[in-house]
Amino acid sequence: MFNYTDAFSTKRTPQDQPIPGKQMVQGEAGGFVFGVDDWTRLDRFLILGSDAPTYYASAHELTKENADAVVRCLKVDGKRTVDRIVEISEAGRAPKNDPALFALAVAASPAFADTKTRAYALWSLPRVARIGTHLFHFAQYVEHFRGWGRGLREAVASWYTEKEVGKLAYQAVKYQQRDGWSHRDLLRLSHPKPPSQEHDSLFHWITQGNVEDYIPPLVMGFEAAKVSESPADTIRLIQEYGLTREMVKTEHLKDAGVWEALLEKMPMTAMVRNLANMTKVGLLSPMSSAVSTVVSRLDSDAVHRERVHPLQILVALQVYKQGSGYARRQAVGFHSLGYVSPSDVPTWEPVVQVVDALDAAFYHAFDNVEPTGLRWLLALDVSGSMTSPDISGMPGISPRMGSAAMALVTAKTEQNYMVVGFTSSSQYHWRSNTALTHLPISPRQRLDDVVKVVSDIPFGGTDCALPMIGALQNKQPIDVFVVYTDSETWAGNIHPVQALQEYRQKMGIDAKLIVVGMVSNGFSIADPADGGMLDVVGFSTASPALMADFARG
Ligand code: CA
Repeated sequence: MFNYTDAFSTKRTPQDQPIPGKQMVQGEAGGFVFGVDDWTRLDRFLILGSDAPTYYASAHELTKENADAVVRCLKVDGKRTVDRIVEISEAGRAPKNDPALFALAVAASPAFADTKTRAYALWSLPRVARIGTHLFHFAQYVEHFRGWGRGLREAVASWYTEKEVGKLAYQAVKYQQRDGWSHRDLLRLSHPKPPSQEHDSLFHWITQGNVEDYIPPLVMGFEAAKVSESPADTIRLIQEYGLTREMVKTEHLKDAGVWEALLEKMPMTAMVRNLANMTKVGLLSPMSSAVSTVVSRLDSDAVHRERVHPLQILVALQVYKQGSGYARRQAVGFHSLGYVSPSDVPTWEPVVQVVDALDAAFYHAFDNVEPTGLRWLLALDVSGSMTSPDISGMPGISPRMGSAAMALVTAKTEQNYMVVGFTSSSQYHWRSNTALTHLPISPRQRLDDVVKVVSDIPFGGTDCALPMIGALQNKQPIDVFVVYTDSETWAGNIHPVQALQEYRQKMGIDAKLIVVGMVSNGFSIADPADGGMLDVVGFSTASPALMADFARG
């Protein structure tokens, strides 16, 4: 008998061919995978961005593809698209707000959205552009899509008029200008009608620089700080007016007392970014009370409440613990993010309690997850393509490292879990009885150690079916397979979904598959037609909770 089914089978198909009868697309690496729908793609873009190249696509190509998906979503349902942009931005699900601002600018464009959607997008502007810098970035993006017509002018004007004057003053002095845009430019373009005498004075100060009656106190404090003659005077002004780091003289930022005064009311994100600076000036030193302040603030719900993104914490941890040993080359990349002061090469002695507190804070930054009690296999794609880009443009964090950190969030919650890494058996020397590498990592280790363990694994080709094949070979009972990947799978002789089906059937367990997309491409190994498979976005703060809910059914 000629074995016709070698060449045409729905149960076992090589990954370089599509499964007969299934709608599949060819990934960049050549393997056939499923295309994600545009809504998933929208989420991936909003959370993972496209400002860093992936292994297979440039940032430029990736942005184009993602923008096309945004446009398609707008065509299908404008309101749903804008609601999703607002939701992800407001909840702090993404490490950066720029993709949301960009998508909102697209939604405000006559070329891509109908009148209703445009009005809704512009009405939503203050919810997505929450600080001055956001507003400047939005202005930058939106200019590429439309003119300064009435709708846009009114939206920007109400950004200024609807804020309580004290809060607006804070925005005006903290973020005077960024990336070629200033409040002065935007006020001149939008001509808001001041709703109060205080607003009127503030607008005059912004556009002309003169201090009139009714000026908010913060502006007085800021003007005084500009001519402050000593750190002691600056400290007094910080305490009296609540000035932030951006509002005080740069030369006074070498003083530990100034930083101590700033620390009092420092927003969490700023605190996380300035740990190295505060250590360099000597404020954060072993046994100091400032260390206790930092540690107690990081070790609390405040991290979640103030919406510090876990990826920002991971970057801060990587930077901070390097201290004086930190390579100059790398440091340049961090300057633009404000993690280290650009004036000198970073050298500091990291305080170990601060490093530990950052590690703990990483877990606080995700939404709360209730344990499911199920059996989890957390499978990390450690192939070559997972090593090159920075996730969301966060320097030094590859998708491979990021996926290890994310897997630990589930590992910390669940009792029954195993963490494995997989590449492809064709390019990797496996231990004889298994197709997977057991990864000796656990949430009891510090994240920087975990990142190191994962970074040291050699690369190989990609076979996303291996977690299921390996579990079946070893007769391991698994309820939930979680695969952290870019879905650029190609090396195996059976597709991941087929391997899962075989596992379900032979083990008698209705196992689920969750694919955590670590790159904002359009691919997935999950079959959208199978209710037991789910796509979630890597490094969304909501994903671990979403995964647990799905696993419970
Ligand atoms: Ca790969």
